[in-house]
Amino acid sequence: MTNMEVVVEGNCYVSGRMERCCIGIENGRIQKVAKLIEGEKVFRFGTKIVLPAAIDAHVHFRDPGLTQNEDFGTGSLAAIHGGVTCVFDMPNTKPPTTTLSALRDKKKIASSKSMVDFGLFAGVRPGLDVEAMAKEAIGFKLYMASTTGELMVPSLESVKKEIAAIATTRKVLAVHAEDESLRRKEIEESLEDHLRNRNNECESSAIRKVKVAANGCKLHICHVSGKASLPLIQGVPNLTSEITPHHLLFDISSKLGTLAKVNPPLRKRDDRHALFQALKEGVFDMIASDHAPHAIDEKKEDFDYAPTGMPGVETMVPLMLNLVKERHLDITGAVGMLSERPGEVYGLAKGKIAPGYDADLIVVDMTHSTIIKADNLHSKCGWTAYQDMPGIFPQTVFLRGQLMVENGSQVGERMGRDVLGSR
Ligand SMILES: [Zn+2]
Repeated sequence: MTNMEVVVEGNCYVSGRMERCCIGIENGRIQKVAKLIEGEKVFRFGTKIVLPAAIDAHVHFRDPGLTQNEDFGTGSLAAIHGGVTCVFDMPNTKPPTTTLSALRDKKKIASSKSMVDFGLFAGVRPGLDVEAMAKEAIGFKLYMASTTGELMVPSLESVKKEIAAIATTRKVLAVHAEDESLRRKEIEESLEDHLRNRNNECESSAIRKVKVAANGCKLHICHVSGKASLPLIQGVPNLTSEITPHHLLFDISSKLGTLAKVNPPLRKRDDRHALFQALKEGVFDMIASDHAPHAIDEKKEDFDYAPTGMPGVETMVPLMLNLVKERHLDITGAVGMLSERPGEVYGLAKGKIAPGYDADLIVVDMTHSTIIKADNLHSKCGWTAYQDMPGIFPQTVFLRGQLMVENGSQVGERMGRDVLGSR
């Protein structure tokens, strides 16, 4: 038997269960999984758990144009420390990613700075060159309501042609589903006011409308937040959905003020409980962070002026693993939503421990929680809404067979690349 380049041995998550075995890796890909594999470089993790690393299908790394808050270097550094080895970046940067040249510029930036593999979303707007963008973008993002950036479409009617073209590409159409026509614009002083301006009907109405307009697209509803939205996303062909840690863990009773001002908004406690129940029942395809950093000074402005969004790419996996530890979620559900399904939905050989998949792995000690502190995190924005909450951080992280994080510290060089290759 020939030696593999790299072997990782531990209690590995393979085909839906934990198994003491070896993962044999060649050229960054998993070659085989077996009880015993010989290797040139062997990493033995004993009884520690080896999981596929996470794919965060929704981040805002603010690069280019808003790099005072984050850039692809710092955002991806945060990702890798949080066990995320692949991110999909949203198009509401400056300039917005709505032209081929903007997409290629962002790809250059990300290729030179990223610690993790990445895909880039193209923003939907009237007149978008869908065919050209589809070759180089991981998917398309549609903003139905005003939020950070200026990508809101005037109406679904105005992008009817573009949506039809996206359907023929078989790419995912990811949607920020809030109905601008139902959004109230009253002055806000609290999370409750923010919710009143963007109530549950605002989300569910948008989901209903975009389902009608989808026209055979692979539709993906981002950051589902309301109880009333749940029946609209269940058992619908060609429709996937995601949930964020913040909509699961916080509601408007939070004392975080502007730090927890997000879009769609945090909702009432019974919404949050309904989301949690749906999470356990497997309603959502993926958990995504919607990592949306803003400088703390901006966040400290008066409520009405403070920007929306919070960082989360580094804390997503730790928070979810902590839910597993506390038996609120099982490991199958967590790995399914953090790794497997995002890989499947976006058609990547990532997110599973199986031959042919990228050797993106995290090693965790499920008995070891850490208290989350902003000072220990890597986002440029320097704050977290999860301060002092427990999380289980990966101790070791591999990206395509390369050791990137060891004992919680970066050891590997930047080698992130576009998951669609250099076409
Ligand atoms: Zn977002």
